[in-house]
Order: sequence, then structure tokens, then C-alpha cells
Amino acid sequence: MSEVSLRFQTGAPQNLEQRFASRAAGMLPSEIRSLFAVASRPEIVSLAGGMPNLSALPMEMMAGVVKDLILNNGAEALQYGSGQGHPKLREQICDVMALEGIRANPDDIVVTTGSQQALDLISRIFIDPGDVVLVEAPSYVGALGTFRQYEASVVHVEMDMNGLVPDSLRNAIKSVRATGRKIKFLYLIPNYQNPTGVLLPAERRTEILSICREEEIFVVEDNPYGLLGFDRPSPNAMRAEDSENVIYLGSFSKTIASGLRIGWALVPQSLKDKLVIASESSILCPSNFTQMTISSYLANQPWREQIASFCELYKVRRDAMLESLEEYFPKEATWTKPGGGFYVWVNLPPEIDTKAMMPKAIVAKVAYVPGTAFYADGFGSWSMRLSYCHPTPERIREGVKALGTIVKQEMSRRGSELK
Ligand code: PMP
Repeated sequence: MSEVSLRFQTGAPQNLEQRFASRAAGMLPSEIRSLFAVASRPEIVSLAGGMPNLSALPMEMMAGVVKDLILNNGAEALQYGSGQGHPKLREQICDVMALEGIRANPDDIVVTTGSQQALDLISRIFIDPGDVVLVEAPSYVGALGTFRQYEASVVHVEMDMNGLVPDSLRNAIKSVRATGRKIKFLYLIPNYQNPTGVLLPAERRTEILSICREEEIFVVEDNPYGLLGFDRPSPNAMRAEDSENVIYLGSFSKTIASGLRIGWALVPQSLKDKLVIASESSILCPSNFTQMTISSYLANQPWREQIASFCELYKVRRDAMLESLEEYFPKEATWTKPGGGFYVWVNLPPEIDTKAMMPKAIVAKVAYVPGTAFYADGFGSWSMRLSYCHPTPERIREGVKALGTIVKQEMSRRGSELK
């Protein structure tokens, strides 16, 4: 064996942690990620992941779109493209956003590798260590992870069954400012929020926008689920009301296919150049191939009908979950009743620790995400997020039944311990 190849066999570098930048300390696996390995075992009913259900997507049709693209436009599709994103797709994104009342200029759109990348870029542009980001309580685990990596101080603002509470937002702003810290933006998910499934009504949207404008705080409106309303369209996007103070994030992950990894940010004009430069430094340009696949799909396929069939698929699953929660969960538990999206949020009596209960649930062949994953401050120990997007309705019933049994056992165990 040569000397060169031997050098690669000496194991991990010494003192690796000390050689990292300090921000690497915030790069921790999410609770969801570590759950995935267990939850994806076939015998487990996973109510944990938020993976879109692609069973309603006609694969023959997608194969045709991709084949035509390569045969007719392969040289462009397989080449580098614009850092800001494909011009035709940016125009089509304006048509998609028009469904939620947004009138936008394609030049104010930056296409990203999923909206997750947009979250990363916005954080990179705005957050210095210690800066405050206001978020809903609870909030999307992937956003919390990104904010943590940029060393933000995350402050949760109270929610109720109608989303973020405007008075609590006023109070949070006041108390953060009293400590002299800077608030960089409010991050929220107004439609069928991840993880609670709740919808922010139109009046609250207006009130929150006006608070943030007055206080000079940007609103980051993350909206991957807006077109997945089951019974009625969601209210107009917040961006429809305020084009100067809202940074809007959209995604095709839930309305077409998450594997294509295409999302976008619609930003106030003054921010666009910074965002493009930040994106170019991380990915050069979003994939021309998947952007053009989406563009051709939007131009030639009945995409509105396809979204309607996704909604139908999720609605049946939502109903199965709500019915079985009613049937199998103890009366002390409460849960949200989402009108769209993927998630139900369950609150149990405070003596139940959902993280500690997880191994028992796995033995009973069901997985969920413990509530603490959705808080930056350790709160949420008696809550859990249940996703209904992926399993069949029968499996959802099976999973909720098994989980209900575990919860009841846990309650009586804790009850006898406390006596
Ligand atoms: N925001 C929210 C609220 C999400 O739930 C997700 C994915 N689950 C994302 C952003 C990221 O989505 P993507 O990168 O696939 O667009």
C-alpha cells in the first residue's frame, strides 16, 4: 500500500470541535431528523414526518414532462442558469401567487432551492449573533434550526387557535426592546401552520402587519401550505397587503413535488440584489433542470386540478385523524382542527412528557414528534405534533389508536405516582 493511501486511514482529525468556528456549536441534529430513521421502518405508523404524499401525482405525466424537456430543451435545462432564477418560471410564479391576492413583479422574485434555502439566506443577511427573531409559539423546526445556526436569540410569541396573538406581539416587542436587543424580523406561517395547523384570520393579518410596520420590523411570511385549504381558500397572503415590509417565501414542495427542490422569495425591491448575491455564493444558481420541469408542468398541465386532488387526499387523512383522536384519546387531551395542510397539534395534561413517552410509542409501532422540537426554549414537553399527510387513513386510525392507549397508560401511571 502506498504512503499516500495510508495517510487517509488515520481516523478523524484531532480536536475537531475546537477547530470549528464558534457558530458550528449551533449545528445540531433536529429532533425530527433523529426520529426519521426509526419512523421510516415499515412496521411503524409514522405520524412524525411532514413528507408530502406523492401518490396523487401522475408519474407517467411527470415522466413525459421531463422527457420532452430534455429532448427539446436539454442544452438549456442541463446548463447553469441565472442566479436569480429562470425568467419564465419567475413569471409563472407570479400567476401562482395571484391565487392568494399577490400582485408581484417577476424581477422581485429570487428562486431558491426549496424555501428552506430562502430561510437560510434571509438569516445570513439579517442576523448578527444575539439579534432577536420573533417566532410563533410553537414554530417550524427547520426555521428554528437555521436561526440557531446564525446565533439568533429566538423569542416565541403566544398563539391561540387563531394563530399569533397581536397583543402578545406588542408585549414581546416591548420587553425585547427594554433589554436593548435588536429585533430583526417576525417569522410566521399564517396558513395551516407547521406544527399546529392553525390559520391566521384576515383581521389579525392586518393588525400584525400594522404593528410590524410601525415598529420597523420585517415580516417573513412563510407560506408553503397556503393552497392546501380543504374547504375554502385561505385569506389573502400578508404580502398582498404590504409589499414594502413583507418578505414572502413560497414553495412548490407541497403543491407539485418536494424532490424538485424549488421555492422562492418575493422581496421588497431594495433587498433583491443582496439576496441574489447571497444565493450565488451558496449555490451559484438554482437547478435549471428542475426549474424548467416546473415551468413546463405549469404551462402544459392542469396544475390547479392537481392541487385540488392533493387537497382531497389530505382532507380524507385529516378526517381520519380527527375522528380517531375523538375516539381513542383521553378526554383531558385537546387538539387543533386544521382546515388544510398536514398537521394536528395535541396538548396533553402537563404531567405527561411526550419526549420520555416516545420509546413506548415506538414499541407500540407509532411515531410522532414531541412538542419540544418546535420551541427554542425547552417548552412544549406535554405537546406533540401529529402529521396525517403520509399514511393511509387506515394506518392513521391504527396509529392514533395505539398512541391513545399509550397516552392513557402514561396518565394513569403518572396519576398513581402523584398519589
Ligand atoms: N417552511 C415550512 C413551514 C415547512 O413546513 C417546510 C417544509 N416542511 C419548509 C419551509 C421547507 O420547505 P422546502 O424547502 O421543501 O420548500
